[in-house]
Amino acid sequence: MIHEGYIKYRAQRTEGPIPDHVDWDELNRCRTELFDLKLIGMYPNGIGYGNVSIRVKASQFIISGSATGGIRDLSKEHYALVESFDLARNSVKSTGWIDASSESMSHGAVYRALPSVSAVIHIHSRRLFDFMRAGHYPETDPSIPFGTPELARAIEALALSIGAGEGLFVIAGHDEGIMAYGGSVKSALALVKAVYAKGALE
Ligand SMILES: [Zn+2]
Repeated sequence: MIHEGYIKYRAQRTEGPIPDHVDWDELNRCRTELFDLKLIGMYPNGIGYGNVSIRVKASQFIISGSATGGIRDLSKEHYALVESFDLARNSVKSTGWIDASSESMSHGAVYRALPSVSAVIHIHSRRLFDFMRAGHYPETDPSIPFGTPELARAIEALALSIGAGEGLFVIAGHDEGIMAYGGSVKSALALVKAVYAKGALE
């Protein structure tokens, strides 16, 4: 299906290490925890899903790299620094030994919308996606497909409307896709674990 306004994701990467970040260890532990819950992982077709990020400054952030979903324990080499991004052009400039995922745009949209946000988590879950949609959690318009500038703008608007320093929403046009964000890695992870526990009771 060709979606009007679709622009191919453009990535420009400089080879090199990511900078040190005081919260990186905590972010990586959080990712392992999500991996063990199968909220980050790899589908049987080999496609990875889910990623985590922390803000460095302004709209710069460190994010787990492309095609790392199948690996349980990541090291710094598996992360990328997103230095700048352009929502309208769907382009990302990064530094790292690995590409920043195309989902970086969705993380960047949250950081840009809410200056108090320090961490963003993107997970996939059939069960939680259906649970949250049925429970009328905030969601982006299901007609907006993944990987488009429209989705990045919709995420920005939704994060602004939720407003608080932390939140949880469904990317309804990205099957199984859920995002959480908070003022710390801990608070974003707590939101995911709370809905995971709630969903398990249904
Ligand atoms: Zn996704």
